[in-house]
Amino acid sequence: MDQSIIDQIEKIVGKEGYSVDPAICYTYGFDASIFHNTPDMVVQPRTTEQVSEIMKVAYANKIPVTPRGAGTGLCGSAVPIKGGIVMAMQRMNKVKKVSVADLWVDVEAGCVYNDLNDELAKYGFFFPPSPGSAEACQIGGMVANNASGMRAVKYGATRDFVMGLTFVKADGEIVRCGTRTIKDSSGYQLARLLCGSEGTLGVITEVTLKLTTKPKKSASCLVAFNTVEDAGRCISAIIAKPLIPASCELMDSISITAVNKARGNPLPDAGALCIVEVDGETDEVIDRDLAIVDEVARGIGAVAVMPTKDKKLIAQWTDARKSVMTSLSALKPGCACVSLADDMGVSVSQVPEAVKAFQEIAAKYNVTIATYGHASDGNLHTKMVIDPLDKDEWERGVKAVDEIFDVCIELGGTVTGEHGVGISKAPNFMKERQSELSSIRAIKKAMDPENILNPGKLEQWEGSILRNLRYPCPDFM
Ligand SMILES: Cc1cc2nc3c(=O)[nH]c(=O)nc-3n(C[C@H](O)[C@H](O)[C@H](O)COP(=O)(O)OP(=O)(O)OC[C@H]3O[C@@H](n4cnc5c(N)ncnc54)[C@H](O)[C@@H]3O)c2cc1C
Repeated sequence: MDQSIIDQIEKIVGKEGYSVDPAICYTYGFDASIFHNTPDMVVQPRTTEQVSEIMKVAYANKIPVTPRGAGTGLCGSAVPIKGGIVMAMQRMNKVKKVSVADLWVDVEAGCVYNDLNDELAKYGFFFPPSPGSAEACQIGGMVANNASGMRAVKYGATRDFVMGLTFVKADGEIVRCGTRTIKDSSGYQLARLLCGSEGTLGVITEVTLKLTTKPKKSASCLVAFNTVEDAGRCISAIIAKPLIPASCELMDSISITAVNKARGNPLPDAGALCIVEVDGETDEVIDRDLAIVDEVARGIGAVAVMPTKDKKLIAQWTDARKSVMTSLSALKPGCACVSLADDMGVSVSQVPEAVKAFQEIAAKYNVTIATYGHASDGNLHTKMVIDPLDKDEWERGVKAVDEIFDVCIELGGTVTGEHGVGISKAPNFMKERQSELSSIRAIKKAMDPENILNPGKLEQWEGSILRNLRYPCPDFM
């Protein structure tokens, strides 16, 4: 990077606020996806004003800027594919103000999800989306991805809690959008537009989130089935009862085997498992809801129904479910779990049909695909376990992925329920959003005329997704 640019950035953030050290830049070229590209500089601002000044330098010199939270994204959205500056937000991590009487919290974008909830717990409130990466991911990253997780079926995704936010545009202008009022019908909702924008429209620096009270009681029920289709049927039958569970996680037999092998058998062996969590204010509500789960599950043909209020056992099941992704990498020697078609969304009642189609596609291309996820909101994760140095396996995998996405799009679903588009879903995102593409491109052009914010992603991706892989697979280097 040009020395005069380095000098300008140093004036804004000081010596300790940036790095051009190749080793540090190399590490900021990863997120939790299969992709990598090294940036030229990493900047860690402390204030919105610093972000604005950095953007002015980048804009004047047409330098790409990729905003970055904790780098836990699974589809390459924080990988700086065109190099330039990575704007890492971890120093802007304060919970600025909690106003329980008004039901909002003001928080800086770099605050970690669990840290925010630790603070809100002091007042009996919480921010519910609960992504699997809760210990690390940041509020700004969650907004930029519209992240969610296990509790979305009952409480919603990040977008449903964003009342307003502050962001810095590509040219350095600071914009405060939205309100701190519970209701707001004042025209275009820019804060909503930033939700899911994946760092392509602005750098989010502060967010106002709506608060929700934390239920006093909860319990879980682990239900085992012979087939994953039965498990899918059970979930929609529970909802239709009607009972909206706090969460309902699905695991197929490949996921169960992987977790039991890697983690010392925390789960019963089965064709499929559902872990259903119910919550409420009293024990009576919890007992009533557990009885409904029991009745529905047995009616569908469950082979075991295990309700519990034992916090230790519940934590064991939750940990087991959260460890699916890492456990899958230990399933076969020399193989890794890769996020390709990993986050589709379909209507809840279509989960059995979708899962059956995924299994057929896996057999057709002879690839190992595990299916698990937040099935009570129709969000399925299909992780592929492949040898990442094997060109043929990658190519079969990508063919399988395209067919899996076709199934979801034909069912009226989406290629991504919570992880975002990034690189790995870009071609199929364009297929899904075909009729919106010209509007999406016009919005990008209006907000970022020089195309410096996270360029090359989403609707700008060109060609195959098999490039810039983090694995030393010579054919795709
Ligand atoms: C083990 C594991 C489990 C996961 N489970 C879930 C889950 O259950 N649900 C879920 O939704 N996701 C999950 N994820 C994916 C990921 O953690 C989330 O999408 C999370 O919201 C990303 O946050 P981050 O701070 O790591 O963002 P990053 O990965 O750093 O960035 C993600 C995107 O947001 C942009 N961005 C980040 N900060 C800002 C900012 N301040 N302003 C503008 N743009 C910004 C980046 O440019 C990038 O496009 C999981 C990931 C892992 C590794």
